[in-house]
Amino acid sequence: MRKILISTALSSIFLCYLSTFAFSLNVVTTINPYYLIVKEITNGKANLSLIVKAGADPHSYSPTVTDVKAISKADLIVANGLGLDDAYLKGYKNVLYVGLCIPTVQLGLNGGLEAAHTGNETEVEGVNPHVWLSLDFLTQYIIPSIRDTLMSADKLNAQFYKQNADVLLKSISTLSRKFDLLLSGYRNSVVVLDHPSYFYIFKKYGITILSVEEGHNKQPTISHIKEIINQSKQSKLLGIFVGPQFNRSAIETISRELKRKYYVLDPLGVDAKSITDLFNKAYKVLQEAINEK
Ligand SMILES: [Zn+2]
Repeated sequence: MRKILISTALSSIFLCYLSTFAFSLNVVTTINPYYLIVKEITNGKANLSLIVKAGADPHSYSPTVTDVKAISKADLIVANGLGLDDAYLKGYKNVLYVGLCIPTVQLGLNGGLEAAHTGNETEVEGVNPHVWLSLDFLTQYIIPSIRDTLMSADKLNAQFYKQNADVLLKSISTLSRKFDLLLSGYRNSVVVLDHPSYFYIFKKYGITILSVEEGHNKQPTISHIKEIINQSKQSKLLGIFVGPQFNRSAIETISRELKRKYYVLDPLGVDAKSITDLFNKAYKVLQEAINEK
């Protein structure tokens, strides 16, 4: 009897040990796009968690007690930086801020929409923080920096991570060519967005964003909405889009006035199975808006 008890105790200790150390790395990601990227690169070799859950707005997110526990236990935290998620990561040294891997000269100001993120972006004021929505940043800076950080944090699986990252980089390049074909003929047209999330994609093709949001959690004024409607009437309007996380009332007004449908364009890919899936979904939405008669 005594023997059985001892062996049960030992095996439970072993299980405990296993459950804590079965994965070589504990990685915490702040927003879903980075979760999807790390998941694809580590493919089962790391214990992964996500802070900003589906439906939440990363700009105004405050971590829960569970989040703080996960953050403090993490070997590596993958975050955006640029004022999006740095407020609750102050004091942690093991953070990879992917936004800081991109040369500042390549970061766009919210230009013409300067009020869109002020208040939150104290780190690099006026810079548009939605860097994961640039396919060029993904291939040149974001995926390589995540890959290299994972490779040096977990040398045992480094080659595995490299192979997975290579596959991912190839599929992002293919996507980039698809977007070129879809959007390069629309220079000087405009899009109406709830807030300037897809900024870097539209900027690449010379498409101007008319942003409804003038500041976070700040309802747009009637004169601002009128101005968007007027500007849209005077320009070639590509489409009207809203993120699933945002209030639709202003977008609905604009859509009625312009007699154009509005479409849900998700910057975080809450329903996406992978980062490529996020962009494929965005591609379909943009295509639908462009083909609208
Ligand atoms: Zn945003």
